[in-house]
Amino acid sequence: MSDLRETKATCCYCGVGCGVIVQSDGEKITGVRGDPDHPSNFGRLCTKGSTLHLTASPVLQQQARALYPEMRVSRDAPRERVSWDGTLDFIAKKFADTIREHGPDSVGFYISGQLLTEDYYVFNKLSKGLAGTNNIDTNSRLCMSSAVAGYKQTLGADAPPACYEDFDHAEVIFIVGSNTAYAHPIIYRRIEEARKNNRVLKMIVADPRRTDTARDADLYLPILPGTDVALFNGMLHICLWEGWIDDDYIRAHTEGFDELKRTVREYTPEFVAETCGIGKDDLLKAARWFGESKASLSLYCQGLNQSSSGTAKNAALINLHLATHQIGKPGAGPFSLTGQPNAMGGREVGGLANLLSAHRDMANAEHRAEIARLWGVDDVPAKPGKTAVEMFEAVRAGEIKVLWIACTNPAQSLPDQRLVREALEKAELVIVQEAYKTTATVDYADVLLPATTWGEKEGTVTNSERRITRFKPVLPKPAETRHDWEIVIDFARRLEALMGRDKTLFPYTNPEEIWNEHRESTRGRDLDITGLSYRILEEQGPQQWPFPEGASEGKKRLYEDGVFPTANGKAKFVNTVYRPVAEPVDARYPFRLTTGRQRDQWHGMSRTGTVAQLFSHASEPAVMMSKIDMDRRMIAAGDLVHVTSKRGSQILPVAASDDIRAGQAFIGMHWGEEYVSGRGSDGKGTFGVNALTLPAFCPSSKQPELKHAAVKILKAELP
Ligand code: SF4
Repeated sequence: MSDLRETKATCCYCGVGCGVIVQSDGEKITGVRGDPDHPSNFGRLCTKGSTLHLTASPVLQQQARALYPEMRVSRDAPRERVSWDGTLDFIAKKFADTIREHGPDSVGFYISGQLLTEDYYVFNKLSKGLAGTNNIDTNSRLCMSSAVAGYKQTLGADAPPACYEDFDHAEVIFIVGSNTAYAHPIIYRRIEEARKNNRVLKMIVADPRRTDTARDADLYLPILPGTDVALFNGMLHICLWEGWIDDDYIRAHTEGFDELKRTVREYTPEFVAETCGIGKDDLLKAARWFGESKASLSLYCQGLNQSSSGTAKNAALINLHLATHQIGKPGAGPFSLTGQPNAMGGREVGGLANLLSAHRDMANAEHRAEIARLWGVDDVPAKPGKTAVEMFEAVRAGEIKVLWIACTNPAQSLPDQRLVREALEKAELVIVQEAYKTTATVDYADVLLPATTWGEKEGTVTNSERRITRFKPVLPKPAETRHDWEIVIDFARRLEALMGRDKTLFPYTNPEEIWNEHRESTRGRDLDITGLSYRILEEQGPQQWPFPEGASEGKKRLYEDGVFPTANGKAKFVNTVYRPVAEPVDARYPFRLTTGRQRDQWHGMSRTGTVAQLFSHASEPAVMMSKIDMDRRMIAAGDLVHVTSKRGSQILPVAASDDIRAGQAFIGMHWGEEYVSGRGSDGKGTFGVNALTLPAFCPSSKQPELKHAAVKILKAELP
C-alpha cells in the first residue's frame, strides 16, 4: 500500500466554506476530518462534510462519473465515446457558424456556483470577451442574486459587511428565511456556542415553518410566506415611533430616509401583524429587541432571496439596519449567507448576465471599457444577457440555439421543469460539462465533456464571509477528464482560430495565472485583493477581502467608518413596499407550498445521494402538512396524495407535522425524478419537485420565486 498523506481542502457543499483535511493513500481518498486551523470551522464538520470521502469511493466513481467525452450524431442515437480533440473541434465550429449566421446572442452559457473562481473567470471571458455575448448566467441566480441586488441598491456594492466572528459580539441574532441549522450547520454550531457563552444574546427567527432553527429561538415569528417586507417595514415603523433609530447616523451616512419614512408610516403594528399572520405583541417585542440592542445581526438566505420581491426583501432588511445603525460595528449588520461553496467567487468575477469582473456593471460604459482594456478586446457587449429563467425561455423560443451547461443540473433545479425540458429538446446543440453522468441534464446532452471534481482540482473559493481559500488536488484526476478551466481555454483557442484572432486571450498554463489576472481586475475596487497571492494564501491560510496592496490582513467587517462605496459615500434607503407572492392561493389551488433544504442532502443529490447514511434523516420525499388539514381531508400520515400546481403534479406520501400552519405545505427541494413521480400539467414527462414551482422572478434580481407556489392536495385513489 502507498503512503498515507493528508492534504488541506475545503468542503464542496455549502457557503460556510469549512476547511477539511483529506486523507489519501495516493490512489484513493480514505477519510476526511475538519481542519482545526481553518477560520471558518476550526475543525468542525457537519454530516455532509464528514462523509465527503464516501462520495469519492472508487466504486462510486466508476459508476457515477463521466470519464470520457461522448457525443451523439442525432437526438435518436445514443452518445458514443469520442476524442477530446474531435469533440472540441466540432463544438468550436458549431459556435463559430452559429455566431456568424445568427449573431453572438444565439449562443449561451449556464454555469455554476460549484465552479472555482478561476473556472468562473475564464468562462466569463470566453462569453463576454470572445464570443461577444452576455448570455452567461449561473445557478447562483437561483440562490443569491437578490442579495447582490439588495446590497448594491442600498450599500453601493455587493459585499456582505459582517463576518462569522460577529456571532460572538451580537446581542440579537435575527434569522429570517434561513433554516441555518440545516443549510449552514457549522455557522449554526457557532451561534449555539455564542448563545452558551453570552447570556445577553437573543435569537429571533422569522419563518413560515417552525424549522429546527425556529424551535431554538427566543422569539419565533411564523410569518406567512412572502410577507417579509411588511415585517421589516413594520419593525422600522415601531423603531421610529419608539425612538430607536439613530438620527445622527442617518443624517451623516445615508440618504433617502424621508421618503421611506413616509412609506413605513402606513405599516402600523395592527396592519403588519394581520398581513404577516403573527401576534402584535410578538412584532413589538421583535422590534424592541432589534432596535434597543447594542448589536443586532441578521442572517438570511433563500427565504428572502427566492422571491418575486427578493430585492425589496433584502433592501427592507438593510433599511432597518441602516436606520438603527446596526451596521459597521462588531456583532451588527445584514449578513446574507451564500448557498453554494463558491457563489461568492462567482460574484467577484462578474459571473452573472448583468455583471462584469470585480463588481462592475454591464450597464456602465466606463466599467465595460475598463474590462475591455484588461482583456485586450475592442469592447464588451452592452446588451444585458439572458438570466437563468430567461435563458431557457430564449432557448425554447429558438433565439438561443447552442447552450453550454457546466457543473449544474437545470433539468432538475430550475422552476417549471416542463419549460426547461422543452428548451433542452429545442436547442440545436446542448453541451454538458459535468463530473457526473447521472444528472437529469446529462440525458439531454448532445455532447458530454467529462470534468474533474472535488479532490482533483486546484484553485480558490470564497465563502459567505468573503474569505478566500486556496487548495490543491488530493489525487490525480481520472485519465480522460479535464479541469473546467482547461476545457474552456482548449475550446476558446479553437474558437479564436475560427474567428481569425491571431493572439490568444487565453494564454494561461495554470490556475494561478488566471487568478492573477482576476486579482488585477480588482485593483481600486471595493473587493481589492491586489495584496494577496497564491503564496500568501498557502503560507498564511484563508484570507478575507478586501486585501489591497500593502495590507497585512483582510478586513473582517465593512463600513466601520460609515463610508459606503457609492458616488457620495452615503448608503441609500430604498423605498420598499410590500407586494404579495406572484401566485396567490385560490379556491382551486388553496395551499401555499414552500420548498427547502433537508438536513443531510445537497442540491440535486448527485453527490450526497450516493451515501447511504445520508438517507437516515429523511429516507424518501414527502409533503409536510398540518394535522388540521389532514383531518379535514381524511388523510393519514403515509397516505399518498397528488400535489398539483398549474404547471405539474406529483404523487407523494404525507408527513404529519405540528410545525406548519394549516393551509401550507412543504417539500424538500432535493428530490429528482428518480425519487418523485412528477408530471407536467398535460400529464406527460417525469419530473422532480420543480414540476410544481413557477418561473415568476424578481424584476430587479431576476431570481425566481422557488419559495412559493399555489397547489392543491388530493388523496390519491388506490388502484
Ligand atoms: Fe460542508 Fe457546509 Fe457542512 Fe461546512 S457546514 S461541512 S461547508 S456542508
